[in-house]
Amino acid sequence: MNLFDLRTIVTGYTISSLVLTVVAIALWKKYHRRFSGLDFCLLYFIMQSSALLLMTFYGIIPDILSITGADALLIVAVIFLYMGLERFIGRPAFQIHNFILLAAFTILHAYFVLTSIDVTIPGILFSATLLIVCLQCAWYISRHGTPKFRTMSIIIGIIFGLFCLISMIRIIGLLVIPGGDLFFNFHNLDKLLLLINQMLFIILTISLLALVNRRVLFELESDIYTCRQGERIISVRLKLWEFSAKSSLNELMQKALDEIEDLTGSKIGFYHFFDETHNNIELQAWSTRTKETFCKAEGEGMHYPLSEAGVWTDCVRERMPVIHNDYDSLPNKKGMPPGHAIVIRELTVPTIRNGQIVSIMGVGNKPADYDANDVEIVAYITDLVWTIIKQKRADEQIHQLNDKLQHQAMTDELTGLSNRRAFFLKGSQEIKRSKRYGNPLTMIMLDIDRFKNINDSYGHEAGDDTLRCIARILMENIREVEMAGRLGGEEFGVLMPDTNAKDALPLAERLRVIIEKEGCLIQDQETKITASFGVAAFSKDMKDIDALIRNADAAMYIAKKQGRNRVVFLG
Ligand code: GH3
Ligand code: MG
Ligand code: MG
Repeated sequence: MNLFDLRTIVTGYTISSLVLTVVAIALWKKYHRRFSGLDFCLLYFIMQSSALLLMTFYGIIPDILSITGADALLIVAVIFLYMGLERFIGRPAFQIHNFILLAAFTILHAYFVLTSIDVTIPGILFSATLLIVCLQCAWYISRHGTPKFRTMSIIIGIIFGLFCLISMIRIIGLLVIPGGDLFFNFHNLDKLLLLINQMLFIILTISLLALVNRRVLFELESDIYTCRQGERIISVRLKLWEFSAKSSLNELMQKALDEIEDLTGSKIGFYHFFDETHNNIELQAWSTRTKETFCKAEGEGMHYPLSEAGVWTDCVRERMPVIHNDYDSLPNKKGMPPGHAIVIRELTVPTIRNGQIVSIMGVGNKPADYDANDVEIVAYITDLVWTIIKQKRADEQIHQLNDKLQHQAMTDELTGLSNRRAFFLKGSQEIKRSKRYGNPLTMIMLDIDRFKNINDSYGHEAGDDTLRCIARILMENIREVEMAGRLGGEEFGVLMPDTNAKDALPLAERLRVIIEKEGCLIQDQETKITASFGVAAFSKDMKDIDALIRNADAAMYIAKKQGRNRVVFLG
């Protein structure tokens, strides 16, 4: 019974194969640079179409071409598809064994085609070889499909399984009902199997298209995700730099932890310093949520050695990020201090600078497992936080140094009083204020009497001690708003804002008396010291502080002239 015409079936198969090859070429053109393996997949279609074309020329071209050539090409096609899938899904491997199998098949097949007109043995040879290759394909794809393409790889695996089944049925069929004497006189079972084969081929092609599409979609999704995440990380980066300008280091660390919790979907977060030289951990900061909701354990600023720390410091021992997705099952975990958050899973990342671990950032209790993506985020932020910390510390040092320098530039080294420069600066400010608001301003200038004698009798050191002694007396006896300064040598000035001459004169007199009475200890001896005072008050016609100082100096000069140890006022 001739149910189907074999030539028609083969021609139909050839046409569908050619059409699908065109589809495959279009797909290859679009994606072959992006995904590996598509070259081999395309070769599968080309080889199969060529094989089918050769088959349709049966009787016109020699049998060795139309039968052996076609069958060998069909097997090459499947080997190429196998190699293509291998490259597309996983690692490429050169299938030397399959090519040896192919060579053996071709020789045997050619031998039987040339020596016998019966197609039973060549048919069995072909189906057996195809079965071996398809079995490998089915095995590979159903085992190696990554979770991304799980469904698609299972479907393709099943199709290959069905190819195997067809090959087996065909082998049994050929053994039970030997084939006809001519290739195109196959029995009906063979024709039916060929038809099923064609349908499976179409389904396989659709599945392969779906597999590529699935991957394109997946990569697109992950591109979009990466892009969004990148944007979020950049915005967090800017936020932290901005925040750092107006906050303390601890506030910054807490803020960074809040952000990182948000980025990774974590419920707890901590950031601690590490001193690698002493293997010492310094507890620093926790996220706001950790502090408020979860972790009631105290510990800020606490130090303790690495050896006493729990598994969260594994990242220090391993010198790289560590994920514990099943914290409970860790054999070497230590008990938590009372009030500490319950840890379900955690990710800890060390920051390494100049080969030394300097800090540890950790997050925990994300609802899903931590993965490489979380590691990337935490590593990026922790690195940034350390950079900001270093920057802030450097800024602070510069500030301190600046303050120190400024202080030094304004202070008289010997007495600790303001120096001439500072006195002039303050004086200028006060003059401006007085000019603008009409506030009174007075100054006292005093010069130690016969100071040269002290130097000459007791030495320069004793002279210095005397200068310090006078400076101390001045500091102890003036108000905070007043400013005492050493104007040079053994000359001092006291600037008195909001004070008129009426109030300044008694103060000058008081200072004179105190100096005279107290004297100074010179080489352990109470020594009488006196000073001459000149007092001057600001008047509107004065241009600057120099004018006021000049007047005070002139008054003091008069005091010297009048016999020293007295106060003279010059209005
Ligand atoms: P008079 O009563 O007229 O002010 O006499 P005097 O000796 O105090 O005046 P004079 O200006 O002649 O002498 C000031 C001396 O102060 C001269 C100088 O050697 C000394 N002198 C200036 N600066 C310092 C200092 O920093 N330390 C010491 N030990 N002596 C100083
Ligand atoms: Mg003097
Ligand atoms: Mg003098």
